[in-house]
Amino acid sequence: MRRREFIRATACAGAAFIPLSRVWAAEPSSSARSGSDLPARSLSGAEITLARTDVASLAASLQGELLLPDSARYEKARQVWNGSVDKRPALIAACAGASDVMRAVTFAREYKLLTAVRAGGHSTSGKSTCEGGIMIDLSPMRGVRVDPGSRTAYLEPGTLLGQLDRECAAFGLATTAGTVSNTGAAGLTLGGGFGRLGSRFGLACDNLRAADVITADGRFVHASETENADLLWGLRGGGGNFGVVTSLEYQLHEMSPTIVGGIYSWPFKQAKQVLDFHADFAPRKPDALCTDLILRSAPGTEPSLSIVVCWSGDPAEGERVMEPLRKLARTAKGNVGEIPYVKLQSTFDGGFPDGRKYYQKSGLVRTLGQSAIETLIDVFQTPRPQPLTMQLQGLGGAANRVAPGATAFVHRDALCDMAIITQWENSAESEANMAAMRAVWARLEPFTSGFYVNSRYEDDLKAFRENYGDNYPRLVQLKNKYDPMNLFRLNANVVPAA
Ligand SMILES: Cc1cc2nc3c(=O)[nH]c(=O)nc-3n(C[C@H](O)[C@H](O)[C@H](O)COP(=O)(O)OP(=O)(O)OC[C@H]3O[C@@H](n4cnc5c(N)ncnc54)[C@H](O)[C@@H]3O)c2cc1C
Repeated sequence: MRRREFIRATACAGAAFIPLSRVWAAEPSSSARSGSDLPARSLSGAEITLARTDVASLAASLQGELLLPDSARYEKARQVWNGSVDKRPALIAACAGASDVMRAVTFAREYKLLTAVRAGGHSTSGKSTCEGGIMIDLSPMRGVRVDPGSRTAYLEPGTLLGQLDRECAAFGLATTAGTVSNTGAAGLTLGGGFGRLGSRFGLACDNLRAADVITADGRFVHASETENADLLWGLRGGGGNFGVVTSLEYQLHEMSPTIVGGIYSWPFKQAKQVLDFHADFAPRKPDALCTDLILRSAPGTEPSLSIVVCWSGDPAEGERVMEPLRKLARTAKGNVGEIPYVKLQSTFDGGFPDGRKYYQKSGLVRTLGQSAIETLIDVFQTPRPQPLTMQLQGLGGAANRVAPGATAFVHRDALCDMAIITQWENSAESEANMAAMRAVWARLEPFTSGFYVNSRYEDDLKAFRENYGDNYPRLVQLKNKYDPMNLFRLNANVVPAA
C-alpha cells in the first residue's frame, strides 16, 4: 500500500482526529525509513512481511512514536509487568490519542497482523504483548478528569489505578479499583475489576458508564446506556474482545477520603481459627466492609495469615460491625484505624515490583468449606523453595446484586476470587517455580468454579466459553458485529461465528 493511500484509508471520521496537514508534516522515524521489509507474524501465526514503505507511512501518520526493534526506546517499551513474559513485537505503536489507535488498528487489520493491546501492562499472563505482531501501546495516554457535579471520572486508557483513586479522593468521591495502585485501570475494568469497594459500589465494570472504542474496522464508536448499549454490555466483563477502548467514563460515589482500614496479622498457629471466622463472617458482612484474607509463605520464614480491612462507611457504625473482628484481633499484630483510602490502596505496591518473574493461578470460590480450609493450611505450612502469596479477594454485596445477564461479567454468586502467585528473579528457576505452582493449584482448583478472565493463563477456548456461561451467545453476536475477523484475540477470546 502506498503512503498516501494508507493515510487516506485511515483518515476516517472520529473524535480527536489530527489534521492531515500535520500528518503530512510528520516524518517517519529513522528506523522506519531504513532497512528492508520487516518480518512479522499474522493472526494465524504465519510468517509475513511488512513493506518498509507501509511501515514508514504508519510511522509518519502517528502523533506518537512507532517503535521498531532497532529503535532506542523499543527495549523498554516491549517490557511488561511480568518479567517472565519475554516477547518481541515487530512494531510498537506508542499511541498519543484515539487517531493513532485508529491508524494502528487499520494497519493491523489490513496486514492481518497479530495484535496486542497494552494499557497498564499488568496482564499476569502477558496478553498485552505478542511475538512478531503489533503492540498497540496505550501507556502514553494517561490522564483523569473528575467532574464532581455529575460524579463522573473520564479516564484515558493508559491510566493507572492510583491516579484514578487520588483524583476522585480530592473531591470526596470514589469508585471501585483494584488493590495494587500501579495496575492499569482499563484492563482491570474491562475484565470485571475487583476491589475493596466492590461490595459497596459494585465491580469496576459495573461503574463503567460509557466508553469510546476503536473497533476492528478502525471506526470510532461511543458506547453508553443510550448509544450502542450492546457494546457497553460487552465491555463490562468481556475484556478487550470488541476493540480498543480509548476513553472510559466511570460513575463515582460520595466517600470520605479517610476510611477505617489496615491489616491484622496472626501467628500461623491460629490459621484454622481465623479461616473459620472468615468463612462465617465474610458472607454476612455489611457492604461497606472489605475483609480480604492474605496467606503467605516464603523459604526460611514462618507462614503468615492476615486480614486487610477497609471500612468505608460511618466510623461509629464501623466499630459496631467490626467488633467480632476486633475481638479475634486481640492476638494479632497490626493496626486498623483511620487512614487515607489512597494510602491503604498502595500498601501492597512494593510487593509486586515491575519486571520480576511471576506465575499466578486463580479461580472463583462460592463457599469456603472445611476441606478447603484444611488444604489451604497444609499448602502454606508445607516448606518449599518458592514464596507463595494468596489473596482471597471478596466479592459479594453490590457486586453480587447485579443480575448475571445484566453485564458480560456473569459470576454474580462468587464469594471471593482465590488468587495465588509466586515470584522470583532468576530465569533458571522459572520452570521449577511454575511446576511447583501447578502442583499447588492442582490441590486448590477443585474448590473453585469459574475464573476471573484477567488472571487466566491458558488459551483454552472451551474454558472461556464455559466461563462466560449463558452470556456467551450474546458475546458471540457482539464479536460478529464489532470484530468478525477476531483481530482482538489476545484475551479471554470470544470466537466469532464462522
Ligand atoms: C499486582 C497485580 C494486582 C492486581 N490486583 C487486581 C485487583 O485487585 N483486582 C482486579 O480485578 N484485578 C487485579 N489484577 C489483575 C488485573 O485486572 C489485570 O492484570 C489487568 O489486565 C490489568 O489491567 P492493565 O490495563 O494493566 O492490563 P494490560 O496488561 O495492559 O492489558 C491486559 C489485556 O486487557 C485488554 N485491554 C487492556 N486495555 C485495553 C483497552 N484500552 N482496550 C481494549 N482492550 C484492553 C487487552 O486484551 C489486554 O491484552 C492485578 C494484577 C496484578 C499484576
